[in-house]
Amino acid sequence: MTTAVRARPDKTSTTMQLQVKHAPRRIPLNGIKDIAQSASDMLVDVRESMLAPHPRKNPPVFTTAQVGDLCRVDRQRMHYLARTETDLPQGTLRHSRSREFTLEETRVWINRIAPFAKRPVGVKAKTIAIGNFKGGVSKTTTAMTLAQGLTLFGRRVLLVDLDPQASLSALHGILADSEVADEQTVLPLIYGETDSLEYAVQPTYWDGIDLIPASAALFGAEFFLPFKQSKEKNFQFWNVLNSGLESLLDKYDVVIIDTPPALSYLTINAFMAADGLIVPTPPSALDYASSTQFWSLFSDLSQSMQEVAPQLDKSFDFINVLLAKVDQSQAATPIVRDWINKTYESLVLPVEIPTTAVTQSAAAEFGTVYDISKYQGSLKTYQRAREAYDRLAEIVDQQIVTLWLAEAEAK
Ligand code: ADP
Ligand code: MG
Repeated sequence: MTTAVRARPDKTSTTMQLQVKHAPRRIPLNGIKDIAQSASDMLVDVRESMLAPHPRKNPPVFTTAQVGDLCRVDRQRMHYLARTETDLPQGTLRHSRSREFTLEETRVWINRIAPFAKRPVGVKAKTIAIGNFKGGVSKTTTAMTLAQGLTLFGRRVLLVDLDPQASLSALHGILADSEVADEQTVLPLIYGETDSLEYAVQPTYWDGIDLIPASAALFGAEFFLPFKQSKEKNFQFWNVLNSGLESLLDKYDVVIIDTPPALSYLTINAFMAADGLIVPTPPSALDYASSTQFWSLFSDLSQSMQEVAPQLDKSFDFINVLLAKVDQSQAATPIVRDWINKTYESLVLPVEIPTTAVTQSAAAEFGTVYDISKYQGSLKTYQRAREAYDRLAEIVDQQIVTLWLAEAEAK
């Protein structure tokens, strides 16, 4: 930072300074730029410190080999494509003569080269709610990593943060307290001021993910929705989010909704808007016990919904129980995993997410496994977690593609 405009004590004229409180200092026209520079440097510093400890986030970069892996092509073909398909991004040449691709460039490659089925024309996004009435079971982490993983299958994802605690927004480096106004959340839709959520969609640091952020003010929905229902008989408190998302569904491949750890009015809206439901369930005895409560409350809710709205024709395309935060070192893990498998049978996804220091330390910096370009710790630990999350995204993507193709065929 330049100090051009700061008064410097002048050792030779101490007496002068004592007499003259503020001596005039001549500044030529071309000195103004120093003042401007000083001011703008300061603003940057201040803004950074105001945002701490939520630093602005940067997406990872990818090596040529990683881009090849994501496109499912081998090294030789990757080099061939880089030479011949000259309109594909060429990345940036780094020292040691290797190339580095930004996330955006990598996604251009994936969209062009990878063998993934595209969403058929005229078929809309699939909406997935991540739910469990217990906190700390990895709902938010699952929403974020699933969104990131799906973008690496070339999908465009809209994330909706419905938790007043706004952890999903924080994972995007967004400070819910100071950076999210009520009008930027789902609230105007909830309050009936508008009937489409389009106004609330923000781009994020991650190419392929847009976000509707949350703030503490979302608590207001819990009072407003039942109040409005009591006044207006024809109001459908459970359908507000569903109808607000409608006009966005042809712009995205997947919509993922993160919910608060409660059977709240917002959670009911998320479930009613969802085609698929993912319930992260750690294999610990306590989490297992509370997950059984989740299903019994959810069942009560389903029954009362049928009474309140007999015309409601709601079904889920899929419900997945996800073994999350699986700690191999815990003696109880295999036992509770067994209970979970016996209870939920085919609902349990054929992948489990390990508890990893990678996730924990990255979470301290408001990130996930996918945010890391070069992992500093044990590569094996990182790989294990990364492969689990990749597999989760792959399985969910397969379910979505199956539904898309069935829908396209039925048309
Ligand atoms: P929820 O949204 O259900 O409350 P979070 O996703 O916020 O849960 O996770 C709760 C805590 O557990 C967070 O600190 C998060 O970083 C951590 N966590 C989530 N998944 C993992 C994992 N696989 N390994 C280790 N820690 C995890
Ligand atoms: Mg959460």
